[in-house]
Amino acid sequence: MTISGSVQLLGMTRGQLEGWLATRGAKPFHARQMMKWIYRRGVDSFESMTDLSKKLREELTETASIRLPHVLKESVSSDGTRKWLLAADGGQAIEMVFIPEPDRGTLCVSSQVGCVLDCSFCATGAQGFNRNLSTAEIVGQLLLAHRVLGDGSEGDRPVSNVVFMGMGEPLANYRNVVPAIRLMLDEYGFELSRRRVTLSTSGLVPQMRQLAEDCNVALAVSLHAPDDDLRDQLVPINRRHPIAELLDACWAYAGDSGRHITFEYVMLAGVNDSAAQAKKLAWLLRNRPAKVNLIPFNPYPGGRYKRSSEAAIAEFQSILHHTGLRTMTRRPRGDDIAAACGQLAGQVENLITSPLHAKIGGGS
Ligand code: SAH
Ligand code: SF4
Repeated sequence: MTISGSVQLLGMTRGQLEGWLATRGAKPFHARQMMKWIYRRGVDSFESMTDLSKKLREELTETASIRLPHVLKESVSSDGTRKWLLAADGGQAIEMVFIPEPDRGTLCVSSQVGCVLDCSFCATGAQGFNRNLSTAEIVGQLLLAHRVLGDGSEGDRPVSNVVFMGMGEPLANYRNVVPAIRLMLDEYGFELSRRRVTLSTSGLVPQMRQLAEDCNVALAVSLHAPDDDLRDQLVPINRRHPIAELLDACWAYAGDSGRHITFEYVMLAGVNDSAAQAKKLAWLLRNRPAKVNLIPFNPYPGGRYKRSSEAAIAEFQSILHHTGLRTMTRRPRGDDIAAACGQLAGQVENLITSPLHAKIGGGS
């Protein structure tokens, strides 16, 4: 059955879909039925949605469609990690990564084509920025992963966790990312628990505060330095939202939920990996709901840094441990296919070069 309609239903939240269906005389329960088909059973043909009336199915086929991103290239690492290059409109391409582990399957999704924030150790930042992904392009990654990794039907869901750690700064694309998260959490959508969806941010403070109210998913914050002088260089958004302001927003986000904020800290040889810096970091996070994730730097062509030695990483970790901070070192996954953190580049063309502030918090 060819799907010919042009209204993209993928990416509509439950409320939006109900509203759209109401204009066609359909009822809210139809939205719930359709969402189950789309997100839980991976069905993209209205003809197959057998609990809808024949008339509604025909009308949907004429007017609407469910369009997934398509795969340009797939790479499989020796450790089982998979990376896909996906076509995005306008000749662009983004990357998505699946990391299988014995107890979970984590999908790392992209939120933008490139990134404007230009952290000095990140391949995505080095690519520049083209545009925000739509909600459909974000949830489409998850749907596509289910389709290629398993049959996508209920009870057989290869993706148990989603992390916004692919290309882009998710909070700079707030208006499309939040509806995507809502669909991930919706009981008629992907039905993931809040703990299984992690948003990683370089520290857009106003949007972090807003997110706490809108959908309080697990939060990872890219700290990378224990003082403003160094963080200004590594993560330029720090010049606008320095560490003290960022940490205040983190503690407000955690509130009294008992949940921890994960602080990501990329290990750059001779830059941020000394014992003194570890102690400074421990002091910053003392007695707070914090855990630390050390990420050995992943090199990429043209990058200017080197990965810290194993000894330096082990010492850094042990200093944090001794102060009582939960700390782990992230084992690079998929680095033989350039799928590790910070290596995702996709194809970013027609860069938009307007000033940084014009892009932050921007719309679609
Ligand atoms: N823009 C968001 C999410 C995407 S990056 C953010 O910055 O948090 C996901 C994680 O990978 C971030 O912690 C980021 O700082 C880290 N990262 C970026 N480049 C890296 C590299 N080359 N090696 C290791 N980690 C990197
Ligand atoms: Fe953007 Fe995150 Fe890369 Fe910084 S680390 S340039 S915020 S994707």
